Amino acid sequence: MTSPMRLVHATEILERLPAAVSRLARIDAKRCTLPLFHDNDSEVFHETVVPDLASYKWIVINLSGGKDSEAMLFYVVSLADALGVPRSRIVAVYADLGRVVWGQTREYAEAQAGMLGVRFEVVRREKGDLLEYVLDKNARRRAEGKTGGKAVSWPSGGARWCTSDLKISPVTTLITRLVNEADPAPDHRLCILNCVGIRAEESAKRKMKTVFAPDPANWRVTPLTAKPARPATRTGPADPGREERKGIPHGRREVDRWLPVFHWTASEVWDEIRHSRLPWHWAYQYVDRVSCPMCFGAGFDNWALAAYLVPELAADYLDAEIRTGTTFTTAASMAQVIAAAKHLPPPLSTLPWDRTTPVRRS
Ligand code: SF4
Repeated sequence: MTSPMRLVHATEILERLPAAVSRLARIDAKRCTLPLFHDNDSEVFHETVVPDLASYKWIVINLSGGKDSEAMLFYVVSLADALGVPRSRIVAVYADLGRVVWGQTREYAEAQAGMLGVRFEVVRREKGDLLEYVLDKNARRRAEGKTGGKAVSWPSGGARWCTSDLKISPVTTLITRLVNEADPAPDHRLCILNCVGIRAEESAKRKMKTVFAPDPANWRVTPLTAKPARPATRTGPADPGREERKGIPHGRREVDRWLPVFHWTASEVWDEIRHSRLPWHWAYQYVDRVSCPMCFGAGFDNWALAAYLVPELAADYLDAEIRTGTTFTTAASMAQVIAAAKHLPPPLSTLPWDRTTPVRRS
């Protein structure tokens, strides 16, 4: 179970911060009381949880090249500076998904970390990128005699293996490497903070996540308290939460997962980025979210726009569809997407401000 000693009240942090750290000044001290786990139906849902960064040997920042993780990086580095935690303890990690992301994503992530003097690591699935994984899975399933619906091997909302197998799992191997690097004494467990840049307003499912908890991916037996209670929904009854189980951490490490920008709005994220003066990804000229352009959750208009902007990627998806005899989503095929892209007018910038306007720190 996570030790409350590794959490500090935001009021305490405010007293220790220079006023210049603009984002932190927005913390509402009245809403910063703890317990660890929020109740989605109550005010506590809005609390701001701030771990005591000084109590961690490593602070791992999951950097995707997108806006949320970029804002998180700057926020956590600012917080670490203000609390006197050396930047050498911060490690930015980029999980490389290969050709399925927008071009230059890795370069943007590396530049963002580099400009803040933060160590940058790249991890990836060793046996190939997402499309190669789809082909492997499909071949395996066909070899097992599964055809039709059972042969479908693309990631989806209900089978999000792209995140677990291509992002979370490789990052866990980095965490193991960091533990080995620090080489804790045999009777000592290293504390690591794993920071993930997801936001509640992105989806109803994300809203259910806990801001600060033992990292489920890094415990041998996950503490059940990592899963919060669920209120009743239109489709199901309330889940009062599970019985508490202590959980068993790995032998040499204890990892907490923190979602630093969980309650931020998109405009707060952009404010932070503009204040940071870090470069933001070029694809934001055209899309609101920079992740995989052909992500199953993006929707037809975004797929068509992506096929217009990166036709070579659409061609690779089409090739994988032909080879597997399946479509990349149940909603549409890549052939339909490519056909729609041919009729698109040149896309307009979606940025809510003029990129040429100089940004000044207030
Ligand atoms: S953006 Fe979509 S397809 Fe890409 S890893 Fe995330 S969930 Fe999977």
